[in-house]
Amino acid sequence: DSRRKGPLRVEDIFIAVKTTGRFHSIRLALLLDTWISRTKKHTYIFTDTPDQEISSRGFNLIVTSCSPEHNHQALSCKMAAEYDHFMASDKEWLCHVDDDNYLNPRPLLDLLTTFPPNSDVYIGKPSLDRPMRAQELLEGNKTREVSFWFATGGAGFCINRGLAEKMAPWASGVRFEQTSAVIRLPDDCAMGFIVEKRLGVSMIHSNLFHSHLENLLKLTPREILNQVTLSYGVFESKLNTVELKGAFSSDEDPSRFKTLHCLLYPLTSWCP
Ligand code: UDP
Ligand code: MN
Repeated sequence: DSRRKGPLRVEDIFIAVKTTGRFHSIRLALLLDTWISRTKKHTYIFTDTPDQEISSRGFNLIVTSCSPEHNHQALSCKMAAEYDHFMASDKEWLCHVDDDNYLNPRPLLDLLTTFPPNSDVYIGKPSLDRPMRAQELLEGNKTREVSFWFATGGAGFCINRGLAEKMAPWASGVRFEQTSAVIRLPDDCAMGFIVEKRLGVSMIHSNLFHSHLENLLKLTPREILNQVTLSYGVFESKLNTVELKGAFSSDEDPSRFKTLHCLLYPLTSWCP
C-alpha cells in the first residue's frame, strides 16, 4: 500500500511546465530563477529541444519528440507526455502550467489539501464564461454537438491521480492526440472533454488561477501574494501584468515575477 500517511506535501505534486526551444531563454529562464528554484525536484519541464545548460543545473528537462510548432497536434503531444510521465511517477497530483505562469506552491498546496482523497478533481479557471461547444466526430462521418467546461491551459490546472487513472482510455499514449482530433480542439479543451463528457465529472472552477487573457491589473497586491498561478502577456494588444511595487522597476522586471518572488522569499540571494 503506497498510500500516504499524514498531510499532502508539496513534493507529492507533479508540476508540469510546457515550453518550446525558442522560449528557453526568453521565458523559462525567469521561471528557473524564481518559483521553479523552490520546486525543482518535483517540477518537470516539457520541451522539444535539448538544453545542456538547463539539464546540467539539475532541472528535470524532458525532451519530447513533439514538433516545435504551435499547432493542436504538437501541443496535444506535449500534454500527452505530461500525462504519461505523471502516470509513471509516484505523485498524487498533476498540475500543468505554461512557461508564462508564476506558480505559488503554498496556496497550491493549501488548495489541493482541501479535497478528500477519494474525490475526482479537475480544477482550474475557465477561459470563457460559458461551456465550450464542439462537434464531436463520430463513425461514418457523422458529428454530434457537445458542450463542456475546460480549464484554460494558460492559467494552469490540476487533476488528481484517481481521476487521471479513469482518463487513461482517452488520454494515455497516442490516445490523447486522437481525442483532441475527435473534437478538433487544442489540448486543454481535450482535457475538459475527457473529464466532463467521457467521465461525467464536473470541472471545479477556481478564481485562484490566472492567465493573461483576463485583466491582471484587477488583482490587489495582497491578493497577488495568495494566488495559485499568475501570468503575463499580451491582452487586447497591451502588455498585461499584475501591478506590484517592490524591488524592481518595470524595465528590470516587466512580468513582475521577480518582484513577486522577492516579496514571497526576501532571503533569495539576488533580492535586494
Ligand atoms: N508553446 C509550445 N510550442 C510553440 C508555441 C508555444 O509548446 O510552438 C507553448 C508555450 O511555451 C507556452 C504555451 O505553449 O507554454 C502557450 O504559448 P503562448 O503563451 O505563446 O500562447 P498563448 O496561447 O498564451 O497565446
Ligand atoms: Mn501565454
